[in-house]
Amino acid sequence: MGAKAKGTMPDQIALLDLTHAQLRELLASWDEPSFRADQVWGWLYRSLVSDFDQMRNLPKEFRARLGEAAYLPTLTPLPVLSNVEGAEKVSADGLTRKVLFALRDGETIESVLMHYERRRTVCVSTQVGCPIGCPFCATGQSGFRRNLTAGEILEQVLYFARTVRSGPHPPLPPLLPRSGEGGVAPLSPKVGGEGMGERGPDSLITNVVLMGMGEPLLNYEATWQAVETLNDARGFGLGARRITLSTVGVVPGIRRLSREKLQVGLAVSLHAPTDRLRGKLVPLNRRYPLHRLMAACRDYGQSTGRRITFEYALMEGVNDSLEQAQRLGGLLQDSLLKVRCPCHVNLIPLNPTVGSSYQPSSRKVALAFQRELERQGVPTTLRVGRGVDIQAGCGQLRGKI
Ligand code: SAH
Ligand code: SF4
Repeated sequence: MGAKAKGTMPDQIALLDLTHAQLRELLASWDEPSFRADQVWGWLYRSLVSDFDQMRNLPKEFRARLGEAAYLPTLTPLPVLSNVEGAEKVSADGLTRKVLFALRDGETIESVLMHYERRRTVCVSTQVGCPIGCPFCATGQSGFRRNLTAGEILEQVLYFARTVRSGPHPPLPPLLPRSGEGGVAPLSPKVGGEGMGERGPDSLITNVVLMGMGEPLLNYEATWQAVETLNDARGFGLGARRITLSTVGVVPGIRRLSREKLQVGLAVSLHAPTDRLRGKLVPLNRRYPLHRLMAACRDYGQSTGRRITFEYALMEGVNDSLEQAQRLGGLLQDSLLKVRCPCHVNLIPLNPTVGSSYQPSSRKVALAFQRELERQGVPTTLRVGRGVDIQAGCGQLRGKI
């Protein structure tokens, strides 16, 4: 269950670390009526309360007992820069907000909120640091400290949902239909809380990407519990299609993911078209080389019917030549597209990190690389750098403190 922490009784549990079934079990052991778990769940994930006293329709004695047995917040936003008020770092265009959080044991993680035209996306961390050690990545360079708990993963989303609710934030156009469904889904019955009006929390945060610090498939259990909790219609109700998990290529994890009932979007960080180069940029490639990775991606695509995204950070003079674009196109054609397994490539301008010599490719080179992939029939997008001015790249803010 939860991480033991400072300022809490030694046997207190982190409430956000409980699954709905565990919460039900706990409350049943207190002889509470069976609807109590749904009420608490609604307050936590639908009304987004951060304090037991805000659970207004629950008996006072019950709230007191809950407060004795469990604790709620596990994250504390930290002030990061003297010229920015509060805990958030906001990009010059105001569209990207990055927060550094302290965990209860003093470790720190980062999360980012990005506003797009029709979406509000939270990028969450799944580990403190990362054991993979990619040399271009600030998190990889900082080493590995520990896995996050499900509650610590979830609470990053809850935090931003609360900040959006309390505004001011750029407005979104009318709610998008939930993808994969014909229209705006009816809201689940309001079981516990108040304060969300007619819309669910998924109108505050429309998308979640597991692309912050850490490798989610090396912290599978907690990550998946967080995904299932966010998806749960009794609470947050975020559609599985609005959740994307990014992996560096943990093959057994991808295979396990393809057997899950919920089918989230899969992004695979590729960064190189050959084992030789990928072995340098992504050390895990030595354990799971490209032929194994591609076979797992093919099986994922075929069993879920979902299009896989390949992330490719363009690094000047390292992985950005036309010949490398040709090889990448050939690899994706042969292993996926020719067997009707849809995929696309997302080219990312590298965010340079302190202490590493990797530099981003020029815009001209990036466009030529994209053209070559498209010439080979590989759908490709060239991502605009997001929040470069606030070091929104993975692990970059934490490295400054
Ligand atoms: N460990 C997972 C998820 C977290 S990293 C993974 O590697 O996929 C999320 C994304 O940020 C990955 O695609 C990663 O390659 C990319 N990334 C890391 N450092 C970067 C940098 N300096 N510039 C651009 N992208 C970077
Ligand atoms: Fe870990 Fe992903 Fe960074 Fe590589 S890119 S070190 S896998 S977080």
